[in-house]
Amino acid sequence: MNNDQTPGEDAMPDQSSGSSGPGSPGQVAAVWARVRGRLQGEVGEVEYRTWLKHMTLVGISEDEAVIALPTRFMRDWVRSHYADRVSALWHAELRGIRNVEFIVRSSVQIGGLAETQIAPPEPGPQPAPVASRFTPFLVASRGEERLEPARDPRFTFDSFVVGKPNEFAYACARRVAEMPASPGFNPLFLYGGVGLGKTHLMLAIAWELTDPARPGGPLSVTYMSAERFMYRFIAALRSKSTMEFKEELRSVDVLMIDDLQFLIGKDTTQEEFFHTFNALVDGGKQIVVSADKSPSDLSGLEDRVRTRLGCGMVADLHATTFELRMSILEAKATRAGVPVPPKVNEFLAHKITSNVRELEGAQNRLIAHANLFGRAITLESAQEVLHDLLKSFDRRVSIEEIQRRVAEHYNIRLSDMSSARRSRAVARPRQVAMYLAKQLTSRSLPEIGRKFGNRDHTTVMHAVSRVTELMGLDAAFAEDVELLRRMLES
Ligand code: ADP
Ligand code: MG
Repeated sequence: MNNDQTPGEDAMPDQSSGSSGPGSPGQVAAVWARVRGRLQGEVGEVEYRTWLKHMTLVGISEDEAVIALPTRFMRDWVRSHYADRVSALWHAELRGIRNVEFIVRSSVQIGGLAETQIAPPEPGPQPAPVASRFTPFLVASRGEERLEPARDPRFTFDSFVVGKPNEFAYACARRVAEMPASPGFNPLFLYGGVGLGKTHLMLAIAWELTDPARPGGPLSVTYMSAERFMYRFIAALRSKSTMEFKEELRSVDVLMIDDLQFLIGKDTTQEEFFHTFNALVDGGKQIVVSADKSPSDLSGLEDRVRTRLGCGMVADLHATTFELRMSILEAKATRAGVPVPPKVNEFLAHKITSNVRELEGAQNRLIAHANLFGRAITLESAQEVLHDLLKSFDRRVSIEEIQRRVAEHYNIRLSDMSSARRSRAVARPRQVAMYLAKQLTSRSLPEIGRKFGNRDHTTVMHAVSRVTELMGLDAAFAEDVELLRRMLES
């Protein structure tokens, strides 16, 4: 079948509860209890309670056990730290088991189909009761079919923090939620890097449109990752039930396909998607698609698919700014009801610039740690708790980077680092940057001087001693410099 491949974790049977693999469900449960017990003994109480306790056995197949964790962050953590051990313990119990797959599954299941796609940051409130007109999601499970709503209270417009990098995408998403299938906004194509909020916005649209109190009544919304779409399609081909699959898809009011880039090179599935797409748009239904690139940059997608994808509204989510990261951290801390000192948020927002998911993961870890030990979060504890995580974000710091960070911190222009201006507001931060350049790099005084608008090495020397002196006199200033140093340090 062309180059379609069976997708990875999504290809596991969804709802298998143990009976498909070796042993009865009761035996499997006993094995699992022993594996957990051994782990607990090996890693100790704290580690066990922080991470491993949250594992749930989803099921086992011939040679694989599937274990779920409630958040993506926990899943990644457990997978990178304990996968080998968990695997070995399973294998010791059941020789057939050669591999353990870790997936993300919240206690609240989303759409029945999306559970491996969405990593809820923290245990949120329970979902609203299932209203009668919710989208029927058909999840085949040993002959049974389960209906699940595509609603998740954690990913709403309210919980989405808006800033410059995402305001356009946010506005477009809101517009689609208010007036689905309006011309010019169909399809809505959201794109951007990993962890910048694409899935969040899609689910926020779904949340609004499936609201039982929506004027005109809730709509039926199907949200699926492209991988899942492919998996379902292949499964339908195998079981000769493509007609049902097509009908199911074409009966919805809104179809959302997340991470469309997975369909690149999957020609048969693309073809099917294209037909579904056309049928829905022609029928006045809304389509929302996300991908990591713009339609024109998604090379490998058929031209006609690309053209159709780009003919509605295309909105991108840009990389976060420091300000947006700060607002997100503050909003999340408030939501979690945990006091996080501004300095800690600043530290995180400076250190973790890659994406919101990582940022959130780090903050969750601090919160989990604080809860576990009943201690307040401080800059010191944050550094300690996140030590290994932050190591991966660290690299050698350059003078340019020091200048940039310091300028940002004191809210002056980067060009003032090398300008001739001598006012205190500019001169002091410049001295701090020189001091940090001396502390954190191996550059000589003359070299540092040159990077600061060709200043003399004696100017740098003076800056270093002045900053040292001030740090001894002014505790707040010292703390500031210390914070900057920590942020820059590798
Ligand atoms: P993507 O789908 O683009 O990879 P997600 O939508 O899954 O990213 O976002 C990753 C995590 O970051 C989610 O937990 C999401 O709630 C959170 N997130 C991303 N952007 C924002 C934002 N602007 N405000 C609040 N949370 C956000
Ligand atoms: Mg996503």
